[in-house]
This record gives sequence, structure tokens and C-alpha cells, in this order.
Amino acid sequence: MRWWSHLWNWIRGHSMVHLKSQREIDRLRESADLVGQTLAEVARHIEVGTTLAELDAIAEDYIRTHGAEPAFKGYQVGDHVFPNTLCTSVNDAVVHGIPTGYALQEGDLLSIDCGAKLNGYYGDWGYTFGVGAIADEDAALCQATYESLLRGIEQAVPNQRVGDISHAIQSHCEANGFSVVRDLVGHGIGQSLHEDPQVPNYGSPGRGRLLKPGLSICIEPMINRGGAEVTTDADGWTVRAADGRPSAHYEHMVVVHEGRPEVLSDFRYIEEVVDPPYEIDVLTESTTR
Ligand code: MG
Ligand code: MG
Repeated sequence: MRWWSHLWNWIRGHSMVHLKSQREIDRLRESADLVGQTLAEVARHIEVGTTLAELDAIAEDYIRTHGAEPAFKGYQVGDHVFPNTLCTSVNDAVVHGIPTGYALQEGDLLSIDCGAKLNGYYGDWGYTFGVGAIADEDAALCQATYESLLRGIEQAVPNQRVGDISHAIQSHCEANGFSVVRDLVGHGIGQSLHEDPQVPNYGSPGRGRLLKPGLSICIEPMINRGGAEVTTDADGWTVRAADGRPSAHYEHMVVVHEGRPEVLSDFRYIEEVVDPPYEIDVLTESTTR
């Protein structure tokens, strides 16, 4: 590395992020739990014929009934305001799909991202479901995406850098023949939905921000079966694989701790309701869930 590269790394590693207190981490866990309970309620209704709008209504009702607010509804980027509670992204849609009247079909790959604000703190995580029986290639995509997320999480310990997380995700997905979407990234989370640092799903080991205890981040690989290029629909939100091939997205909320990372989002909420489109028992003992 050149001297300026070292300097840039130092600056990135030392600029301000808000490290969370134990009390704040407890709040974030409560928000993550509410998102998990919401996704479990939604998962009970995922079947052929159910519309995306129906799933969205279930999620909004669940979140509001439990004293929280949907985090994505009303979220504004430029002139575009997100109109719903869930992002529902089917097949070649990567993320940010708007829940329409589309009725689910056998074999669909359905990525659902859910956010809620509870007691001032945000929960934000997501999961890719198979509707009925899915293609073997789509199951392989889910498997690799899920495994890459766990490998990324393993890097979320003090004195590692954001680039170590990014590299772990990228190398695993590419080794399996899949492509990493680069236009969208993970992020810090707390009293804001999106905080520093950005957490890309591609990068070099030893680069980027230094990880410190109390850093809370959303790690969220968005992985395509085909090429990495994406387009945005005319609705201003739906991000879609440019070549029309399927995409998967899993997102966990993670806190950096000494020893091992803490995963605030619990996929068991969903795994107890539906069969996951990945094998859980392929995980090694060191893999962090
Ligand atoms: Mg996120
Ligand atoms: Mg999300």
C-alpha cells in the first residue's frame, strides 16, 4: 500500500461513529425482535395466491399493534417516498420492491425486508423465502448468500475492518459462481435507520473503518445468480437485476463485541414457521449465527 492509502485508512478508521451503550444495544435488540415477530407473522401467510399487498398489510398492522412504527413507510430519497411497510422483491427484483397486487406463484423467490422503529431505535432485517418448491439453482443462491452473511458476521470483531466483512462476503459468493450487487450496501443502525459506516458486500481485507466494541451494523449481502448490474424500475424504488435473473438478500443486525459478534436479529423466528431455503446444519461450529 502507498502512504496515502495508509493515511486514508487511518482517517476512515478514526472518524466518528456512534458506539452504543449496553442500554442502547438492549433497545436495538427489542426492535430487532419486533421485526422478527413481524416477519414470522408474514411468513405464516406466504403461499401461492397471496398478494404482496396482503403481506404488507399484515406487517403494518402487527408493527403498529405492538406500539411501533414502520421504518420504511414515508422514507424519502430525492422526490421518491416509499409507500409501504415491507420491501417485497420477487425473483429478479433485488431489493426495495413495492408491495403490489402481485399474487405469489409456485417457485417464486421472495425477498422481504422489514423495518420498525420502537422506543426511538430502529430494527431492520430481511430474509429471502422460497414460495413452494424452488429451483435447485435458486436454492444454491440462497445457500451461498446466507453462508456469506455468516462469514461476514464472523469478521465483526474488534480490530478487524469493514473491508474484512466485505471481503468475506464477496469471496464466498464469487467462489460459488454468483455476483455481488455493488450499488447498494449495508449500514450502521441506531436512532437513525441508516448510520455510518457503510458496509459494502465487496472489498479488500484490512481496508476501511476499524471495528470497535459497541458498533451496530446491518450486514446485508444482495447476491445475483447472473451479473451484478442492476436497474431501477419506473416506480423509483424497485432495484432489479439487469439481466432478469434471480437475486437473494439476507440481512442481520450485528453488534461488535470483544470475543464474538452479537447477532440481534434471530432467524429462528422465521425458521420455526417455514422451511428455510438453505441448509442450517452445514454450518461449522465457529460460524456465528
Ligand atoms: Mg438495511
Ligand atoms: Mg433492510
